[in-house]
Formats: sequence, C-alpha cells, structure tokens
Amino acid sequence: MRAEPPPPPRGRPEPQRQSAPPRPRGRRCPYLEQIIRESAGPFGLLTRYKADCHVDRRTHKFTGRHPVPPCVSEPESCGLYQAEHGDEDDRIRRYVE
Ligand code: SF4
Repeated sequence: MRAEPPPPPRGRPEPQRQSAPPRPRGRRCPYLEQIIRESAGPFGLLTRYKADCHVDRRTHKFTGRHPVPPCVSEPESCGLYQAEHGDEDDRIRRYVE
C-alpha cells in the first residue's frame, strides 16, 4: 500500500514567506592567504574576520555586527590591493615592451 500525501492544511492559506534577498557575493582578493571568521565582543554579539594579507604579510581584523572585509567583497577598494595590482601591471608592461 502506497503512502498518501499529507492532507492540505486547514484554515487560511499561509502567506508566502519572503526570504532574504541573496547577499551579493563579491570577489575574493587574489592576495588573500586565508580568512577566519570568529565571534567577538560581549556575549559574542560581534563578528570578527581575520585576514592574512600577502601584500604586507600582516593580519587585518574587521570587527562589527556585519563586517564586510574588502578581501572577500571588493578588493578594488583596498589601498594595498591597488598598489600591488598597479605594480604588477607595471612589471607586465615592462616585459611586454
Ligand atoms: S583586500 Fe587588501 S588587505 Fe585584503 S588581502 Fe587584498 S590586499 Fe590584503
């Protein structure tokens, strides 16, 4: 004997749930070595990202309620990225010429 599907719900139909809009996924910085996400602040209410940067070989911390590190969202806005990317472009241009 086959199982029957559940009966339709009684009463008013449930309103369609509005799901949160998908978060825009940014680009990962090519100079990012690793990034760690952890809780921070009182009662772990904050979020902290620790990003190991290949350019200056330091760990950059981004802390807040919903921090958006440029390393995983918009590397073009980072000064280190811009400097390193510009240097690479110059090097490539010199080889091509
Ligand atoms: S976005 Fe900037 S700080 Fe982050 S990894 Fe790239 S160069 Fe380093």
